[in-house]
Amino acid sequence: MGVDYYITADQEEQNLVNHLINFANNLPQQSFNINSDLLSDPNLDLDSSTNLDLNSNIDSSINSSINPISITSLSAADRKIYEDLRSIVELEKLEEIVNGLDCISLRAFANNTVFADGNPESDIMLVGEAPGASEDKEGVPFCGESGQLLDIIFRSINLSRKENLYITNTVFWRPPANRKPTQDEINICRPYLEKHIALIKPKLIILVGNTAIETVTNSQFNSKYIRENFLTYKNYYLDNPIHITGIFHPAYLLRQPYKKKDMFFKLLEIQNFLNSN
Ligand code: URA
Repeated sequence: MGVDYYITADQEEQNLVNHLINFANNLPQQSFNINSDLLSDPNLDLDSSTNLDLNSNIDSSINSSINPISITSLSAADRKIYEDLRSIVELEKLEEIVNGLDCISLRAFANNTVFADGNPESDIMLVGEAPGASEDKEGVPFCGESGQLLDIIFRSINLSRKENLYITNTVFWRPPANRKPTQDEINICRPYLEKHIALIKPKLIILVGNTAIETVTNSQFNSKYIRENFLTYKNYYLDNPIHITGIFHPAYLLRQPYKKKDMFFKLLEIQNFLNSN
């Protein structure tokens, strides 16, 4: 099988590139186009003992579904929120509604509503946890340090928010002191997030970090399983299922750089998945 490479590597990186070539030659896909940004990261650490046997993950295209929450189990007030959003067909209208929400205490601490960034026509929608300090200041998701790493990560498979990624979070306001959003805060934002996903209708949702994984999947599977597989996802607003998977949060990679290797292989899986779906 022919595999095309566009890697510019100097001699020191040759070892690593050889591993990638072996790895990629075992994948059932036509072409990789791997940018060198991530490859040049010393933490990637693909040495000669690297175990590249990821075929079981790669082959597991779709083997589980994430089901919508049952809105009949919600309070009448929450059900009404879900139902009222049904008629929204424009992203701008959803953003206007979210901007006007006053039912959440997070707003009181935040400088900005952080709705989304990137290309709304994208095939890929990323969902992160919550805005941090930089995002709260700018009103743009993932514009701080972890966002910069996220951009590098996706650039390594030639995806950018300018062209082919759309990014949002599980909550639209920064939790004070960057704490994790509470379940209540997540639940208040959930109908808007689900409608957001339905309006973008991407081909692939990538959940960034455990909070996003737990929120969007309603904890129907554990985070590791979501990260290691491509599943299907449905919500109240979606007629057809969407593919979904998860990745480590870039803030975690900043704290645990040795995990960048796992992230790199996951990117290859994502690229392989996109090529074959
Ligand atoms: N972390 C997130 O999960 N989202 C952001 O927007 C920024 C940092």
